Amino acid sequence: MSDIHIRCPKCKWEPDGKPHWSCSCGHQWDTFSTAGRCPQCGKIWKDTQCIVTAGGCNAWSPHLDWYEGLDEIIAKLKQEIEEGWLAEVPR
Ligand SMILES: [Zn+2]
Ligand SMILES: [Zn+2]
Repeated sequence: MSDIHIRCPKCKWEPDGKPHWSCSCGHQWDTFSTAGRCPQCGKIWKDTQCIVTAGGCNAWSPHLDWYEGLDEIIAKLKQEIEEGWLAEVPR
């Protein structure tokens, strides 16, 4: 899955793997290591804040919008399908 990048959709800040996010239960962790779910209380954070103290823009964005590269994977898949069609010998 090396084609997928995680970064802020607004400012392109990339999470550095540090526990910048804190849950309402008080737990601090890296939200991208658990896809937005707090490992302590299980709360799911569907929006993720950009971390201004680590160089981000402080804006909230949907967690899924942070993942980039999926469009490229789909485009590649479509290309492979089209190439498969072209490879078929017409009668
Ligand atoms: Zn929690
Ligand atoms: Zn940002």
